[in-house]
Amino acid sequence: MSFTLAIVGRPNVGKSTLFNRLVGKRLALVDDQPGVTRDLREGEARLGDLRFIVIDSAGLEEATDESLQGRMRRLTERAVEMADACLFLVDARAGILPSDEVFADILRRKNAHVILAANKSEGKAGESGYLEAFSLGLGEPIRLSGEHGEGMGELMDVLRPISEKFAKRAAEMAPETDVDFDEDADDGPRLPTQEKPLQVAVIGRPNAGKSTLINKLIGEERLLTGPEAGITRDAISLRFDWGGVPTRIFDTAGMRKRAKVQEKLEKLSVSDGLRAVKFAEVVVVLLDAAIPFEQQDLRIADLAEREGRAVVVAVNKWDAEPEKQAKLKELKEAFDRLLPQLRGAPLITISAKTGKGLERLQAAVMRAHEIWNRRIKTAQLNGWLAEMISAHPPPAPGGRRIKLRYMTQVKTRPPGFVVMCSLPEKLPESYSRYLVNGLREDFDMPGTPIRLTMRGQG
Ligand code: GDP
Ligand code: GDP
Repeated sequence: MSFTLAIVGRPNVGKSTLFNRLVGKRLALVDDQPGVTRDLREGEARLGDLRFIVIDSAGLEEATDESLQGRMRRLTERAVEMADACLFLVDARAGILPSDEVFADILRRKNAHVILAANKSEGKAGESGYLEAFSLGLGEPIRLSGEHGEGMGELMDVLRPISEKFAKRAAEMAPETDVDFDEDADDGPRLPTQEKPLQVAVIGRPNAGKSTLINKLIGEERLLTGPEAGITRDAISLRFDWGGVPTRIFDTAGMRKRAKVQEKLEKLSVSDGLRAVKFAEVVVVLLDAAIPFEQQDLRIADLAEREGRAVVVAVNKWDAEPEKQAKLKELKEAFDRLLPQLRGAPLITISAKTGKGLERLQAAVMRAHEIWNRRIKTAQLNGWLAEMISAHPPPAPGGRRIKLRYMTQVKTRPPGFVVMCSLPEKLPESYSRYLVNGLREDFDMPGTPIRLTMRGQG
């Protein structure tokens, strides 16, 4: 994913239609329900051989009151800030309206890298609007039809150099420095996509409080939710700064709620949990303190472990819990008993509603992520392995002692190790478990899945 493109423009110019075309039907849920408000949607776009992140700034067609328009403007500004380049759509059929000028101003003020496109350009009806678009002073527009897929080649041509520029920058950056705010960038606005955001998914059973939590984390500014029924989000993932750390959060709650609105979307929500887990680096399993560790919770947590994700368990609605001390003890016991595969994973009590515990949650997520990425030096591992062997030698089936010769970490995210040994097939499971538990303890890696492979030498 080399760069981020924000699609901006006034309501109704065809932003979502184009977003959907770029991202594909599978990810983008087309918005044809009146009264459904959207905020910044983000998806992975494909255009020919180009891959990039695309952000759809809010539609808000139904918004009539001032404050929502103000919010719309703020969201657009946010989208511009998040993106490396902006695709500014105008409606070639409607021509240039005063509100287009408002958006042009925002883009100029933010010093954004702008690609101007006259959308709805299929057929002849867009010709005069196309010509009018020059008057915005943002260069030569390209002719697009998001709905009919016209102009995609031209769009690709203008995006390719941007893609190459950012791919080159990404390659120049050392692997250790993928969080980089590029303070010194002097060619335009700050370029946040060079950082690889932390990817988090919040999963849990319906009503656990996922939406409440995500709202609280991201804050009012980014998310337009409201008391009115039907106002919800269909975001795939949302970007925000979590205590200064650029983060993308996968929002399953929004998608599920959409599914209720539109029955045909129900199918899409079935695999939400799995998709969220695949997307995430850290999975926050959100439990309801009143009904913790239900079957569904256990299945999700187990899935996250099997997929090799770092896991943090958050127990929500702690504000409503009368017997906190006793409850916590009970939860910890249940956790150890029901999810032994996640031994040592943090269990954090929170209230999504009041915001209590969210700083601890963040700390736990960051730490889980750090452990998940950890690399241990080979020399250190082998010193450790020798000690483990002398403390508890491997068995000698049929009189031949199994020899563990050498160990190395072959991967991170999650940490994976290979031990070269004689007769790997004869080494009992219990010995592998002994080593995995030892790794966890001695190298301080609680909670993260650890993969250990025994390999024969020949
Ligand atoms: P947004 O508010 O900017 O996200 O706009 P939408 O994507 O919701 O589109 C607004 C309307 O314009 C819808 O009725 C679309 O079907 C229509 N539309 C979008 N793209 C095109 C296009 O390329 N050509 C034509 N003729 N109509 C389009
Ligand atoms: P989701 O289905 O997982 O997205 O859950 P929601 O965020 O929609 O929350 C379900 C219900 O739990 C709502 O009525 C929330 O107000 C309530 N809720 C969420 N978080 C908390 C919390 O921290 N404390 C209390 N007491 N209620 C909460």
